[in-house]
Amino acid sequence: MSNACHTIWDCPIYRSVQARFLEASKRIGLDPNVVNRLQMPDRSVIITIPVRMDSGEVRIYTGYRVQHNDVLGPFKGGMRYHPEVTVGETAALAMLMTWKSALVGLPLGGAKGGIACDPHAFSRSELQRLTRRFTSELVNVIGPERDIPAPDMGTDEQVMAWMMDTYSQQKGYAVPGVVTGKPLVIGGSHGRREATGRGVVYAIVKALETMDLTIGPDTTVAIQGFGNVGANVAATVEELGGRVVAASTSQGGVYSPAGLKLSELERCYREGRSFEDYGEGDAVSNEELLEVPCDVLVPAAVAGTIHKGNADRIQCRIVAEGANGPTTIEGDRILNDRGVVLIPDILANSGGVIVSYFEWIQDLQNFFWDMDEIFMQLKRIITRAFDEVYRVSQEEKVSMRTAALIKGVRKVSEAMLARGLYP
Ligand code: GLU
Repeated sequence: MSNACHTIWDCPIYRSVQARFLEASKRIGLDPNVVNRLQMPDRSVIITIPVRMDSGEVRIYTGYRVQHNDVLGPFKGGMRYHPEVTVGETAALAMLMTWKSALVGLPLGGAKGGIACDPHAFSRSELQRLTRRFTSELVNVIGPERDIPAPDMGTDEQVMAWMMDTYSQQKGYAVPGVVTGKPLVIGGSHGRREATGRGVVYAIVKALETMDLTIGPDTTVAIQGFGNVGANVAATVEELGGRVVAASTSQGGVYSPAGLKLSELERCYREGRSFEDYGEGDAVSNEELLEVPCDVLVPAAVAGTIHKGNADRIQCRIVAEGANGPTTIEGDRILNDRGVVLIPDILANSGGVIVSYFEWIQDLQNFFWDMDEIFMQLKRIITRAFDEVYRVSQEEKVSMRTAALIKGVRKVSEAMLARGLYP
């Protein structure tokens, strides 16, 4: 294995996700048997994947699929290709998916998967062989009624297309519902690509409303990360009339109080240039971006970027977590003490799995919706979830993070108690 984190228990991300779950469970007096069960995933599959490189050499990669809980419906969650993927990180993210789906009211469970690898280091054909062998090893683990993968960090529509095709070849017929986030032409959904970033902005609009504010040219937004989530946050902020003042990629970023143009950012990104070469404003590092003055900060890159070392220097009023797990437990505490409103990942970035749910329904029904319908339903679901989480946070006097967990965990636990223990 490529990483030191061999079991879920010695992985820091798993321990922090588990600690947050235990805290929410304590607050709602959750049945101890349920607590014990939910601390562990239902199933963790570890696969070694031999891949023939273009040079003829065969290299072995490690892949995972962790299924946390499926009491509400089939397991659901992304596939991550990143050098730091471990079984512990995958299990932590699988648990978050369980709470995320339950929180927003989807009839789905929680899972996550991935391969420890650098996807940018492969040729297209190497990436395809890796993906196809991985999928074929998982053929009895995934399926439209069982477990439905989706894109995550380092994977995209093309990877989903290869997964769908590999699974379908093994079954002998087309099974579009086995993955979501596919290209439109093979059963993908309008709006899936934009969904996560758009959902983040819908949640921001609701958070501004609680402060009697509306989004407009004076609303300043800083975005860390310009992958699928960050780029679509920028696009939606621009569409709704807000002002993106800072943006970054892993190579660096730019800060310009007068505002940045999406078309220029996209051009820089496409040309593989760092945002530091944007041409206006000040160059900032990825870390410095988090500390620029703004109304809304969107961490949409990797986990753990807001921590005890920088949380007291963050200057925004609202943090909307586009990434999964960008704030550590200490970071959370500091932001909370300072009165910063934090929209937690399982709420803020739930737009992705919400539109994945729409894609899955469309595939099962062979009936496809248009973009307006998708965005309207997305807005309805995320807005309702925001209102409910906000209400719980006010009533129970807890942070939005704890309120969101309380809501998700309660729903899962009620379903477990209703179904009972087999045998
Ligand atoms: N990977 C995304 C997430 O973390 C989407 C999951 C899905 O669509 O199933 O929420």
